[in-house]
Amino acid sequence: MGQKTLSDREVRARPAREPAAAAHGAASDGTPLRRGSRELLRDLNSSLLIEMVRESRPISRAQLARQSGLSAPTVSTIVGRLIERGILVEVAIAPANGGRPPVLLDINSTGGYVVGIKLRGDGLTTVVCDLDAHVVATSESSVSLVNDPAAALQAISTATRDALRRAGVPRSKVLGVGIGLSGVIDSEAGVCRFSHLLRWRDVELVKPLRRSLRLPVWIDHDMNCLAIAEKWAGDALAYRDFVTLSVGRGIGLGIVIDRSPYRGATGSSGELGHMIVEPGGPACECGRFGCLEALVGEDAIRRRVGERHGREITRDELIELAGQEDEVTIEVLEAAGRKLGLAVANMLTLLNPEALIICGEGTDLGAPYLDPVVTAVREQTFADQGRQVAVKIQSWGDEAWAVGAATLVLRESFSLPAPDDAGSAIWHRPETPLPPVRA
Ligand SMILES: [Zn+2]
Repeated sequence: MGQKTLSDREVRARPAREPAAAAHGAASDGTPLRRGSRELLRDLNSSLLIEMVRESRPISRAQLARQSGLSAPTVSTIVGRLIERGILVEVAIAPANGGRPPVLLDINSTGGYVVGIKLRGDGLTTVVCDLDAHVVATSESSVSLVNDPAAALQAISTATRDALRRAGVPRSKVLGVGIGLSGVIDSEAGVCRFSHLLRWRDVELVKPLRRSLRLPVWIDHDMNCLAIAEKWAGDALAYRDFVTLSVGRGIGLGIVIDRSPYRGATGSSGELGHMIVEPGGPACECGRFGCLEALVGEDAIRRRVGERHGREITRDELIELAGQEDEVTIEVLEAAGRKLGLAVANMLTLLNPEALIICGEGTDLGAPYLDPVVTAVREQTFADQGRQVAVKIQSWGDEAWAVGAATLVLRESFSLPAPDDAGSAIWHRPETPLPPVRA
């Protein structure tokens, strides 16, 4: 991230989106409090130390000081405050030689909780997670959100309160609420600019929810939420540049560049499924024709298998047919996988990430669909990129989307702001250690 000094960070850091808002105390309407620059500087270093504990847990204060470049007294002071707030906890590990056990630091996973919500056209999935992104409560609400933002606001408030009550988590321990949805999402403004799935345009979510819930609230594209979940608690902790490819009814990317989600100019990056690959092809729900998703998304596959069998096929039947190795189904899946694979290989040629993580409900379609994708990645990507990129397949359930939204809050709460991104983060670990705080 270049050689930005701390004062650059300080000046350009996010006054409106401070980390750990609830832990520091949020205003009564849920707006994170503005604080002085000295406190912000301490926050930056707190975030740095939390990230180091997450990566090397458990870890000693001395190791933290060495790795961060902060002085031992500074580390002690910050760690003391984080223990006081319940974010870190001391653990004693018995040494092999029997001597006095060194005191190490770990994340206190029950020191705080976050709520994650995934919006769909027909309802929402809500989870409450601890600081390790482990789910402690989950719930499903069925309510039509299509064309009805007011119903969504009401349902989100109700689901949040219910989930917290069921989890037995007091408000004082809640860091915030994260919401993931598909569409063009302005996460800075907290507005869904457009969603063809929900048929929404310019819907304010964050402001009214902060008012009604009195908690900090963040929103993001659901694909970005998945990528953040991978970075926070999944397979991607060590990666700097990676892509999550979600397959299913929709096909999309979460793109992480230099440890930060790449959202694009208007929040609509990563729409791989809406690349036109067959001009004049089948109608897509985005209103155009020949999009990748309209050709190889789950609905298109289901329709094609149905046509070949001469009847309507449900999603469950499709999965069953694939499991039984029905000849027609396998043929359709393989053809779709090859077409999807080419698009993915082209995308990798463009982005050259370290890893590709394939996830989403479409992974249920199994090897006939996914193997051709992996083959195309290996064989059709430019130069050696396709052989070098790590490919992982995550068979996450529906809950994963909501967990992704919950990790959005963890990231916003514990991450360093980068000079060029008001919401970003310790993923931008500086190449050189931060200078010590003079507090
Ligand atoms: Zn489309």
